[in-house]
Amino acid sequence: MRFDFSAEDEAFRLEVRRFFADHLPPELARRFAIGAHPPDRADVRRFQALMHKRGWGAPHWPAEWGGTDWSPLRKHLFMEELYNADGLDYGWQGLHMVAPVLIAFGSQAQKERFLPPMLRGDEFWAQGFSEPGAGSDLANLKTQAVLEGGEWVINGQKIWTSDAAMSEWGFFLVRTDTTVKPQRGISFLLVPMDTPGITVRPIVSIEGGTGLNEVFLENVRVPAENIVGEAGMGWTYAKYLLEKERTSSAFLYFNKRELEKARQIARTHMCGGVPLIETPAFANRLARAEVDVLALEYSVLRVLSNEKGGKDLNAIVSALKLRGSSLQQRVTDLQLDALGLRALRQWGHGEGEVMTSEEAARWPAAVPGRTAAALIARASTIYGGSQEVQKNIIAKLAFGL
Ligand SMILES: Cc1cc2nc3c(=O)[nH]c(=O)nc-3n(C[C@H](O)[C@H](O)[C@H](O)COP(=O)(O)OP(=O)(O)OC[C@H]3O[C@@H](n4cnc5c(N)ncnc54)[C@H](O)[C@@H]3O)c2cc1C
Repeated sequence: MRFDFSAEDEAFRLEVRRFFADHLPPELARRFAIGAHPPDRADVRRFQALMHKRGWGAPHWPAEWGGTDWSPLRKHLFMEELYNADGLDYGWQGLHMVAPVLIAFGSQAQKERFLPPMLRGDEFWAQGFSEPGAGSDLANLKTQAVLEGGEWVINGQKIWTSDAAMSEWGFFLVRTDTTVKPQRGISFLLVPMDTPGITVRPIVSIEGGTGLNEVFLENVRVPAENIVGEAGMGWTYAKYLLEKERTSSAFLYFNKRELEKARQIARTHMCGGVPLIETPAFANRLARAEVDVLALEYSVLRVLSNEKGGKDLNAIVSALKLRGSSLQQRVTDLQLDALGLRALRQWGHGEGEVMTSEEAARWPAAVPGRTAAALIARASTIYGGSQEVQKNIIAKLAFGL
């Protein structure tokens, strides 16, 4: 299989590269490269506004709603340049998850109300699906919503709700019918996060971040029209959304960028009088990771080139998620191994806090934040469907087991 980019594609790539070089403020790029999780809300808003102004606020949306209608290949080139420039790939729950659902299944009023502020970076979203006891087995969710006097009254608890504390809105899966089979009784509700009865409690994650949360809902009332599509169809919409999520979960751009950082770090670290990158053991590990990232890239390109072909790609995207997420851990582990003891001094995201100025001058810009990035990467094999769940999907869909 060959992927030759046309002259127009290459010109497009350069246009994107030039845009980031000319317009992405260096202090933003530096903070994004460090990879604080969650990033500063003001930074996210500033970046999204910049992209929106250029017409690239949501490249994957249809042009009618402010997207680009780019081909899958163009989107790929764009993402690669975004990562290479240390731009921000954030706001997933809004731009990548709830927006496609609204575009496909929402009412005209919902699209007009919710899509523009999301595109401008004025409103952020959280995804309230998982519950204690309903993660992989999502259909087991217990949070209930009952229609009472023109309002849904919601009671229950969600967990691992990313960005709940910084979001204006949440989209929640709730049980609205207990008399039918579990998947048929679930609905998809849009809930303002400042509604009385909602309590958000942060969960401190392994690297010290506070992006994750528990969300408690106690007699939370939202208007009946906050339901997306039909009552009882939430499972279908959620599946649509999770398929969207998985297509992007090969972590290709992250893996390529972080591999390059591992290489930069290994060039500066001396081992037995030679740069680490020249030692056979490390060079071998780096080369193996590079081959696997390249293979992932070709697999992603194959999926992208089939995106419009209507083929059932579910087993393939599960394979990409499986592969991409474990590679994310390998690549960030490589960085830590290359950093050696320095990794311990690069724990946090505060760039100045742990480096002496002499170290800052000597070490590549790739260094800060690597330990935190490697720790956060542990989660990539869990969220968006765990490894075992992906294997089950592949076994069923690809091998009929
Ligand atoms: C960083 C992070 C961010 C997240 N953000 C969000 C968010 O914004 N919104 C949200 O709703 N959720 C979010 N989640 C939750 C995530 O979707 C769940 O953690 C995930 O679905 C796994 O569910 P669980 O944690 O309940 O684990 P469980 O489902 O209890 O799984 C525990 C273990 O059992 C294994 N297992 C489960 N079922 C099977 C099976 N049938 N066969 C074989 N093995 C099995 C799993 O692979 C895993 O190893 C996030 C999670 C993380 C870690």
